[in-house]
Amino acid sequence: MKVIIIGASHCGHQSALELLDKHPDADVTIYEKGDFVSFLSCGMQLFLEDKVSGVDDVRNFKPEDIEKRGGKVKSQHEVLSFDADKK
Ligand SMILES: Cc1cc2nc3c(=O)[nH]c(=O)nc-3n(C[C@H](O)[C@H](O)[C@H](O)COP(=O)(O)OP(=O)(O)OC[C@H]3O[C@@H](n4cnc5c(N)ncnc54)[C@H](O)[C@@H]3O)c2cc1C
Repeated sequence: MKVIIIGASHCGHQSALELLDKHPDADVTIYEKGDFVSFLSCGMQLFLEDKVSGVDDVRNFKPEDIEKRGGKVKSQHEVLSFDADKK
């Protein structure tokens, strides 16, 4: 099974975890258009209030977290279209 996930925020992260847990052999790739994988939008407040020391910590996960479960993460890859019929 080959799955692509568009966007590496909360939804993309949770989808990848669920798929990799239930289907360890699935070929899962997350495409993220930004250069910062898994920006935690609700963490902005914590950063501005100095409750999080580094901006790099304002995220759900790092690419390595998905890669060690067998998934792939491609940042700076904007999906412009996809052909669901032809997979
Ligand atoms: C200030 C603030 C505080 C919040 N506080 C909370 C809270 O306390 N609790 C809570 O539950 N929720 C909170 N939220 C909401 C929560 O952050 C959002 O529900 C969550 O970010 C939604 O995640 P998402 O994955 O659906 O989409 P998004 O966060 O919108 O992410 C979409 C991702 O897809 C990427 N993308 C989009 N189009 C493409 C494309 N064509 N190709 C490749 N990549 C693409 C984007 O770059 C982005 O990384 C807060 C949000 C904000 C802004």
